[in-house]
Amino acid sequence: MVNPTMASLIELQRVDDEIFQVKRQRDEIEANLGRLGALLSRMEGSLADKREKLAEASRFHSDKRFDHEQNQERIASSKTRILNVSRGKDYAAMQKELEHMRKRQQEDEAQLAELSTSIESYRSAIADEESKLAEIKSEVAREQEASVVRVREFEGLIGRVSTRRAELEGKLPREMSARYNRILERRDGTAVVLAAKGRCTGCNMAAPPQIWVKIQLGREIFQCSSCQRFLYYNVEEAAALAAQA
Ligand SMILES: [Zn+2]
Repeated sequence: MVNPTMASLIELQRVDDEIFQVKRQRDEIEANLGRLGALLSRMEGSLADKREKLAEASRFHSDKRFDHEQNQERIASSKTRILNVSRGKDYAAMQKELEHMRKRQQEDEAQLAELSTSIESYRSAIADEESKLAEIKSEVAREQEASVVRVREFEGLIGRVSTRRAELEGKLPREMSARYNRILERRDGTAVVLAAKGRCTGCNMAAPPQIWVKIQLGREIFQCSSCQRFLYYNVEEAAALAAQA
């Protein structure tokens, strides 16, 4: 006959294991959502940068085109003026100036064409990225919806298991549940462990032979002298553990 307090401690540990598992799953879902959200905002940030650069390039292009058009007008008026100048020093100078302006115009035209091409390709790259982002966004929205449902289920489950935990705790002497909770906190959520082959499976410390015998009988409560965890013995669990190893 297993000591009833020990039986409650074992049961309490099972409940805590369950709560721990469910909380971990819930935290994973929330962490995953957080990662997706961060990814989305990074993508949106980079897209905003690109849009800003595109706007800058477009402004530069239209300024440049404006200059170009003004130069064209200047060339036209120079052409008219040159007709009225008699051949000579002035004519030569004007001719030279006109030649220079024409050359610059050609260079500007080439530059404008190049700029237009890169603006176009940049624009289509941004459009591609926008449609990709929209796809990811709707995926994230679906994921979020499903996650909300699952997290709510987990919360409900945690609530039910916590009620069961409170009941179990209520069955234990106050000092015993306080001790259990202290060990649980100090030992990463495991306060009750199986003892197998004379050893604590929590920290592998060997129990003195006469204690090991008593642990197997299960009539009293024992704690590991090293990690303080409560020790119990169970034939099936010990056999399963031996089979694993
Ligand atoms: Zn131990």
